[in-house]
Parts: sequence; structure tokens; C-alpha cells
Amino acid sequence: MTTPPADRAAQPAFPTTTPAVSAPNGAAAARAVGATKVYGSGETAVRALDEVTVEFPGGRFTTIMGPSGSGKSTLLHCVAGLDTLTSGRVWIGEVELGALSDKQLTVLRRERVGFVFQSYNLLPTLTALENITLPLLIFADEPTGNLDSRAGAELLDFLRRAVRELGQTIVMVTHDPVAAGYADTALFLADGRIVDWMDKPTSQRVLDRIKALGE
Ligand code: ADP
Ligand code: MG
Repeated sequence: MTTPPADRAAQPAFPTTTPAVSAPNGAAAARAVGATKVYGSGETAVRALDEVTVEFPGGRFTTIMGPSGSGKSTLLHCVAGLDTLTSGRVWIGEVELGALSDKQLTVLRRERVGFVFQSYNLLPTLTALENITLPLLIFADEPTGNLDSRAGAELLDFLRRAVRELGQTIVMVTHDPVAAGYADTALFLADGRIVDWMDKPTSQRVLDRIKALGE
């Protein structure tokens, strides 16, 4: 492991440079180690993420589940480079986001990351499909939240095909067990921590697990 150079301005512009710090496991499309995010300070501080260590394997469809306020969006935004951590480290591929300048981060987001927001349904379907066939990575936050069940199933089926047929990597936040059933792996978040995970989730098993976690 190397440490980031003291003088960042001396680095050539991304992506021609080797990242200052490499992830130990290059196979992960994205990963976080000790990811902590605190909003605000003093008595009103909210610990939205609490020392989360997680790896999102390439070519897999991972879903992040958990109750409202458990930190799902915060985790997704921090791993996608849309927001910064209070402490801890995040990599996209082998690039550590904390080692990048704002400009380098913008380039990386533009070239390697696709983000599907809940307002996805405001876009024509074709635009959405084009958006997600380009980047290596796709992060989706409640992408079916505003869709009717048929449009939601279409989008989920498309995401699953993008993984199986195109080798895309997808990380999707949802609180819908049916949507989670399309993923290869489900992570369960509570109070800013990963409390459980499940391989090959089905909607019924996800429902059962959520019930068990709530008890
Ligand atoms: P989820 O997506 O699971 O509903 P979030 O990641 O949006 O949860 O939020 C996690 C916690 O962080 C919540 O308590 C939320 O109120 C708080 N939070 C999220 N964003 C902000 C913000 N910009 N400022 C202050 N608190 C925030
Ligand atoms: Mg959210």
C-alpha cells in the first residue's frame, strides 16, 4: 500500500495516472472500509453510517435493504462518489475516491458510474436504458419507487439482464422485497450498520428475514 502523495496538484490528471492507493482486492467493483458518515455536529449529529465495511463484486446484482433512515441512500451515495465520508475509505474499482481531486472525481463519475434515481420514471425509457448500458457501474436508489408494478418489473428485469448478459455491476437500494428478489445478494442495513446478508434472495425469504431482524 502506498500513501497518497502530499502534493496532489503534482499528480497527472485522472485517468492517465495510477491511483494513489489501490484496493487490496481488485475484483471488487466497489468497496468501503470503515465507512462512517455523520451529518451535523454536537447534539444534533446523526451517525448515518457507522463503520461499514462492504464489498460489491463485479458482474453481480447487489441490493441494499433496510428500514427508512437506516443509511441506505447515504451508503449508496458515498460509494458512488456523490457524497463524501466523515471517516473510512471507499474504492471504485482500484481507485480510492478519497485520493482524488474534485475534478478527478467528476471524471470518474462521468466515465464509470451510472446512477438511477427514484425520479427515473420522469425520463423516457430509452434514455434510461442508454444511461445504464454505458457505464461500468450502476447505482440505483429505489429505482422502482415511483413506478407501477408492471413498469417496475420491466426495469428490474432489465437490470438483471444487464448483469447476466452484459456483465454489469448493479447496486440497488430498495425497501421492496419483490425488487430485492431480482438481486444475486441482499445486504440488510439497520442504524447505519450492515446487520445481515443473504445470497440468492427471494421475496419470501427477504420478507422472513426482515421480520426476524425486526424482532
Ligand atoms: P435511508 O435511505 O435508509 O432511508 P438515509 O441514508 O437517507 O436513509 O438517512 C440515514 C440517516 O441520516 C437518517 O437519520 C437521515 O435522517 C439522516 N440524513 C440523511 N441525509 C441527511 C442530511 N443531508 N442531513 C442530515 N441528516 C441526514
Ligand atoms: Mg433512501
